[in-house]
Amino acid sequence: MEIKDIDIFEGGKRPFVIAGPCSAESEEQVMAVASSLATMGVGLFRAGIWKPRTRPGCFEGVGARGLEWLANVKKEYSMPVTTEVATAVHVEAALAAGIDVLWVGARTVTNPFAVQEIAEALRGVDVPVLVKNPVNPDIDLWVGAFERLYNCGVSRLGAIHRGFSAYGEKFYRNAPQWQIPLELKNRFPHLFLVCDPSHIAGKSELVQELAQQAMDLNFDALMVEVHHEPACALSDARQQITPAALGTILSGLVHRSSSGEDEEFAAFRNRIDAIDKELVALLAKRMEVSREIGSVKREKGVTVFQPFRYKETMERCALMGARHNLDSDVVKEVFEAIHSESIRQQLLIVNGEKNV
Ligand code: PEP
Ligand code: MN
Repeated sequence: MEIKDIDIFEGGKRPFVIAGPCSAESEEQVMAVASSLATMGVGLFRAGIWKPRTRPGCFEGVGARGLEWLANVKKEYSMPVTTEVATAVHVEAALAAGIDVLWVGARTVTNPFAVQEIAEALRGVDVPVLVKNPVNPDIDLWVGAFERLYNCGVSRLGAIHRGFSAYGEKFYRNAPQWQIPLELKNRFPHLFLVCDPSHIAGKSELVQELAQQAMDLNFDALMVEVHHEPACALSDARQQITPAALGTILSGLVHRSSSGEDEEFAAFRNRIDAIDKELVALLAKRMEVSREIGSVKREKGVTVFQPFRYKETMERCALMGARHNLDSDVVKEVFEAIHSESIRQQLLIVNGEKNV
């Protein structure tokens, strides 16, 4: 793919800022948010009109009548506008209303039929499209969406990283798994990379640190959900921030300056850091399971250490390592350390948290 630059995103300062409410709720709300953002250097105004809600009965967006409000934002404040499209009908309506940039949402990207339909509707139309990552951490599904659009002649493409969903208790609404967008950038260095800290965070108080992390990882832009009264928002109330809070976040961003030489290494280092972060999270998860099995062992009166299981684990890991061309001594050392910590954790459980 020969991905082309998107002129709207060119020339300004880093990060390029896309902001606006999760959903367009009323003309007054849209204009109220837009009037604040217009003075803050926001380069693209966002608002969802067709909302893909997880459960029925939630606010599903105002529909096509919201397009007029976006057209008013564009006219009144000279700010380009963007909205989410999920069907060919949405695409046609958005284009007819003069929407400058379209985005494809995370749920839609998981469905190749839907992406193909959108791509076909865009054949012969020169509009930039931003593609959110699919809700599941599948980079090929994400790439597939770019390819479907590109094959229909859409070459001004950008990616929005909004995190990945996971089951159970979680700190972020959607796990960042930074290594996935960084791998995407590695495969397509020309791709404009946007981070959506709002949907990763799920909570307004986490937006700032995620925005900073995105900057540290060299993202080009931020897409932030902003509402003039977040508590009253009809969707994603918990993660939206006020225009004033956005101002604080933007002015507080630390910009990492790197010399030309450093830049050459930055992309590699970012990927390494992201993988390390993931490794630590995985290790923590493994220890959590160790503690769980520890309490079952305690209940059932089973010994913590079982030589047969230990031997089998080490052999299995050595084999997996060999398949990935990893040095067998290194694999052995790493898994011995993991296993010994796992045993320590289980002993803590079995002995009722007494020091081991
Ligand atoms: C949104 O941007 O409001 C949205 C619905 O996002 P996502 O597709 O990332 O869930
Ligand atoms: Mn939202």
